[in-house]
Amino acid sequence: MKTLPPGSIIGILGGGQLARMTALAAARLGYQTHIFCPGKDEPALQVTPLHTRAAWDDRAALQKFAGAVDVVTLEWENVPIAALEAVARKAPLYPSAGVLRVAQDRIAEKTFARKIGIGTTDFTAIHSAAELAQAMKSFPLPAILKSTRMGYDGKGQVKISRPTDPAKAWKEMGGKAGILEAFVDFACEVSVIVARRADGAMEAYPAIENIHRNHILAESRAPARIPPALARQAQQIARKLAQKLGVVGLLAIEMFVLKNPGAHGHRILMNEIAPRPHNSGHWTTDACATSQFEQLVRAVCGLPFGDPAPHSRAVMHNLLGRDIEHWPDLLKKSHACVHLYGKAKTRKGRKMGHVTFLKGAW
Ligand code: AMP
Repeated sequence: MKTLPPGSIIGILGGGQLARMTALAAARLGYQTHIFCPGKDEPALQVTPLHTRAAWDDRAALQKFAGAVDVVTLEWENVPIAALEAVARKAPLYPSAGVLRVAQDRIAEKTFARKIGIGTTDFTAIHSAAELAQAMKSFPLPAILKSTRMGYDGKGQVKISRPTDPAKAWKEMGGKAGILEAFVDFACEVSVIVARRADGAMEAYPAIENIHRNHILAESRAPARIPPALARQAQQIARKLAQKLGVVGLLAIEMFVLKNPGAHGHRILMNEIAPRPHNSGHWTTDACATSQFEQLVRAVCGLPFGDPAPHSRAVMHNLLGRDIEHWPDLLKKSHACVHLYGKAKTRKGRKMGHVTFLKGAW
């Protein structure tokens, strides 16, 4: 495969904190980054002089951007497919639009996982309030109704514990295509991030544990408090998904670990995938020789992978909304690695930064 040497320009679709931290990792290896995003106050715009501010449907701007860079990657899995296709006509795009087609749709990703033998929670597609009313009669409750597309951090999700007003639940979910998922009484949630190059080489980070509050990731603990055999199994699931999907770049897989194997014999169920850097991988910046962001740069530039083995155990806390006001105290704590995203406006639940506490040798 072609190696892009330092000095080359990496285009990034999206300008949030994931793009910002990717740009910083790229700069460390001598690469330039060019951000494409619609907003003007995006965190990544503060760390690189090259940007294109335009809408996702501005075909001319997308093509000009792609013509000005050597390779394109992304930090947001919901970039419209048409935009990805416009970019891919001018520059190598990693991951491809085909991967994103699967990752943008909860039904597509669960169907794909099942096809390759990976367990998921039981689910059924719901297209209207009438279909939801029908499903409530036969689908085991409790269940969660989610929008199939564009959902994140619990947005577009409604828990249904007993047959209730389907029209209300449908509206609350967003009233667009939905998925009804069996509620999983999990022992814990884990995630694995795997990096894959175009020639098929892969490196996976260890399984780590995620604790959500109000559906938003609050804390990641590395390593996950699960038996080593299960942790290996989680990594195998991640590798298999990355390989079968043909991901080039990163793939993050969020999984539920069950107390006992479920009805289909699986102890680990895939919940969601994201083919980009992931919040649950932020700890790698401070606890591993090679961070997830640097591994992404290496993957899309065709460089040898860095060692993903951690040197330290770690606990990462997201700084959500007004948590950011504690930054002076956090700076005084020992073994605390503080990361602030430079966002001007604080909103409830908004990811403003994170802090990783190093907890001693791995
Ligand atoms: P998601 O947007 O699918 O990642 O969901 C956000 C969080 O909601 C997950 O990390 C879980 O904590 C919880 N959740 C989502 N789906 C389910 C489910 N089927 N059963 C139990 N909890 C769930």
